[in-house]
Formats: sequence, C-alpha cells, structure tokens
Amino acid sequence: MTSTSIPPAELTVLSPHDGTPVGTLPCAGADEVRDAVATARAAALDWARTSPEERGRWVRAAADALADHAEEVAGLNTRETGKLPQEALGGVMAGVGTLHQYAELGPVHRGHSLRGHALASDYTVAEPRGVVAAITPWNDPVAVAAGLLGAALVTGNTVVHKPSERCPHTGARLGEILAGVLPEGVLVTVTGGPETGQILTEQAGLDVLAHVGSTATGVAIAHAALSTGAHVIRENGGNDPLVVDDDVDPVWAAEQAAIGAFTNAGQICTSVERVYVHRAIAEPFLEALAAEARRRNADQALAPLVDRRMREAVHAHVLHALEHGATALAGGTIPEGPGSHYPATVLSGCTEDLPVITEETFGPVAPVRIVDSFEEGLRWAAGGRYGLAATVLTGRIAHAQRAIAELPAGTVKVNNVFGGAPGGAAQPRRASGAGFGYGPELLDEMTQVKVVHVEMPPTP
Ligand code: NAD
Repeated sequence: MTSTSIPPAELTVLSPHDGTPVGTLPCAGADEVRDAVATARAAALDWARTSPEERGRWVRAAADALADHAEEVAGLNTRETGKLPQEALGGVMAGVGTLHQYAELGPVHRGHSLRGHALASDYTVAEPRGVVAAITPWNDPVAVAAGLLGAALVTGNTVVHKPSERCPHTGARLGEILAGVLPEGVLVTVTGGPETGQILTEQAGLDVLAHVGSTATGVAIAHAALSTGAHVIRENGGNDPLVVDDDVDPVWAAEQAAIGAFTNAGQICTSVERVYVHRAIAEPFLEALAAEARRRNADQALAPLVDRRMREAVHAHVLHALEHGATALAGGTIPEGPGSHYPATVLSGCTEDLPVITEETFGPVAPVRIVDSFEEGLRWAAGGRYGLAATVLTGRIAHAQRAIAELPAGTVKVNNVFGGAPGGAAQPRRASGAGFGYGPELLDEMTQVKVVHVEMPPTP
C-alpha cells in the first residue's frame, strides 16, 4: 500500500480448521484511529508522572487479570488462527510472564552517571517517549503484544494497540482485559487490517511505531516514520538457516530440524526455513527428517495454516521448488477437505536460487541442501537478505566459534534450535528489522535519554 486506503467496514474471521465463520468485528477508520491516539495522548502526562514503582503495580495487576482469563483468550486464539490449544495457552502464559517481568524491571530501569569535574555531575535520565503505536501479528499474538505493551507502559508511555486482522477477537479481548485494570486511556485498542494500521502509522501524534510482522510492512512503517519523526522498532521476517555438521547424531539432528521447521506449522519468526546438512550424514538425516514429517502428518499433530491465503503462498514456494529440481520426501500436496491444513513437507535437492530457500516460507516446510563441508554450510547460511537468527548443530568447539563469529544474525544458537536469551532479547539485522523488540533492552527502546549536567555556580 502506498496511498492510504479506506478500511472496509468490518473484518470476518474464518476458522482455519473448517472454514466456518468465527466472528466479525468492525474496522477502525480514520476518525476512530484519531480518537484513539487523542485518548492515549490525553492520558500520557499523568501516566508519565506516575512513579515507576506504581506503574509496575498497575502492569502486575494487568498480568494477573490476563492470567485469570488465560483459557478464554487462548481459546479465541485457537479458533481464529488454528494454534494448537496447548501452544495457545503457552503463548498467553508467556505473555503473563513477560508482563510480570516488565513490572519488576521497569522500576529498576536506570541510566548512567559520571563526574565531569570535582563539583559537577553528569547523568542520564530515561524519560517516556510519549504515545506508542504497537502493531502486532497473529502467529503468537498475546506473547508478542504483551512484550511491547508491558515495556511501553511500565516506562511511562501510553499505547494504541492494533492487533492483527487475522486474530482481532483475541486482540480486542486482550485489550479489554488489560485496559480493564489500567488507568483510563493508558491502553487503547483499535481493530482492523492493514488500512487501519497504515492510518495509525501516519498519525502525527505518535512517538513510537513498534511493529512486529512482515518485512514488507516493517519497511512501509519505517517510511511513514520518516515524515512524523516517530522512533521505530521493527521485529520482522526471518529466513533462519540450520547448519548440520558431520559429527552429530543424524537422528537427533533431524528431530531438531523437525521441531524448528514444523512447530506451529512453521509459523514462527525463528522457524527453521532452510537446512544445510553435511554430505557425510545426509542420507540418515533425510530419512529421519522425512519420518518425523510423516509421523506428524499421520498423527494430524500439526496446526493448520492461519488461512487459505497463507496456504497458497506456502504451496507456491513448494511447487516452484518441485518444478525446479527438488524432490518431496514427505508432504508437498494440499490435502482435501475444509480449512487450511498443510502437511509437514521435506524437500531434498534444494538450491540457492529457489524462493523456498531465499525467502521466508512461513509454513511447515524443511528445504534441504547437501553441502560438502561445515564451512560451505556456513557460507550459504550467511547469505541472503535476512538476519533474524541461525542455528548450528556441531560437537566441534572450533566450528561453533566460527558460526558465532561469522553468521550475520541477531541470535546464533548452538545445538538447540529454539534456544535464545531468557526474556527473548535479540537485535535483528538487515531485512529482519531494527532495534530490540524483547528483553530488558526494550525498556531502552521505549524511553529517550536526557543528558543532565549540573555544576556549582561560581562562589562570590
Ligand atoms: P504483517 O506485517 O502483515 O501484519 C502485522 C501487523 O501489521 C498487522 O496488525 C497488520 O494489520 C499490520 N499492517 C499490515 N500492513 C500495514 C501497513 N501498511 N501499515 C501499518 N500496519 C500494517 O505480518 P503478519 O503476516 O501478521 O505476521 C507474519 C510475519 O511476522 C512473518 O514475516 C514473521 O516472521 C513476522 N514475525 C516476526 C517476529 C519477530 O520477532 N521478528 C515475531 C512474530 C512474527
């Protein structure tokens, strides 16, 4: 979208399980968005003046309120996006945990001080930026939103949240629950699709645009911020590689690849999107990975894709790969029946010119390329336009160290495909975004630093 489009009147969500309607919600237009920003702006001064300790108490109360409604919110998430019930509940509880974490960290968030000369002091004061627009995706909607909202609120910002059009009921209910225990106007939720999001990002009265979502949207939001001067935080798409060395157990490596590629049907920003396996263990690895996929398909253990639009995009990557020399060792075909299910798919014989390798597929697809050495795997893994995260499986310390030094990604994981910093701190690179979207560093992103210099007047 370049010029601002008019939002449709409402959003209807269809179940990814069977295509039946889940519900309909209105889309906020220009007037509602303007009002939402005005409400958050009006509440900003009092909230900024509230002591960090007290803000921590409010955020803790919001976390407790969410915990009280965890099953309900997780249920909505499952109905709207197809997320497996246990994983949806896990996502909500992760959100509760994150809100608690920020409630504790906010009051102890601090700056630096130094002494310019004997009778002077220099220090930094972290101030709230003002009003934050938080624009969030559907694939782990509560956990992701809770992080942005928790960090923004506890540091004294007010927030306008726009959840994804693919889970507006989940987002709206989350907003009701949190806002229900927070001071008036501190958190406002607007529902709608990209058009509503675009109208929001173009509002002059916003101080931060925090976006978690696709790279294309992140770039559009960064452009919008150039004219308003808002600070931008972007946590965007990934194309994470997995490099498998010749000294690891191929069956364990295949389990890791399967967890990385198939969890939440591959709809995780840090899903394994491409695999480089050493030729020496390629055969047993591929066999075990195909077995992992077939087992998931037989058990119907996989969540459906979020909708048919997503399924078409995933299948287009797979079909293109199959037409250009890849072989499907498992999956690769659209199943009959309602909903937007897609099987766990293993593709062998993939090369670097295929979109399934160069782009984020965001589905349960593991495209595999056989390499002649760990170094060759690292070289391919370091390529491409994304820089979210990467994993290597190796027993050799020298190989692990090379991977840590050479992979241009925000997070490098050795021997655990979903390892990561407690609290989730990570700084994506290149097309994967900019700034910290999680962890204690998000408190820095949500504040601006004022440098203060205090000196004695001359003595008479
Ligand atoms: P998306 O960018 O399409 O949508 C995310 C949000 O942006 C939604 O609320 C949407 O309405 C809004 N939006 C869309 N176009 C907009 C515009 N022009 N202006 C303003 N807002 C707009 O992303 P998605 O499809 O919902 O989510 C999947 C993507 O998110 C994947 O690429 C995934 O890797 C990424 N993701 C990244 C992380 C991370 O931490 N890096 C986490 C989760 C998801």
